[in-house]
Amino acid sequence: MREKVSSTKEEGKKRRFVIIKKQPFFTNTTRIVCPFCGNDEDFWEHAEGVTIKTHYVQNEDGSFSPVSDDTQIFGEIRFICGKCNSDLTKYHKQFLEMLF
Ligand SMILES: [Zn+2]
Repeated sequence: MREKVSSTKEEGKKRRFVIIKKQPFFTNTTRIVCPFCGNDEDFWEHAEGVTIKTHYVQNEDGSFSPVSDDTQIFGEIRFICGKCNSDLTKYHKQFLEMLF
């Protein structure tokens, strides 16, 4: 068996950058699918008892810039199917992990 000998000069000319698309890390993650209606697109996150406090600084010209916000959720956070309104809160943790 003969080894394939190729001219490195030729190869060098022909070589192009091949961009290998990395597979997204979530390839193997199961998509959230509503077990009741099969919806896998529309979801609601429903938070109860939310206090939104935002810290603003007033600028010289009278406009305001938000500095930070301190949002506190006192109630339950529910995760709801956007189609049939079933409670999918058990998927909420996965939802948060997949939230970008
Ligand atoms: Zn549903």
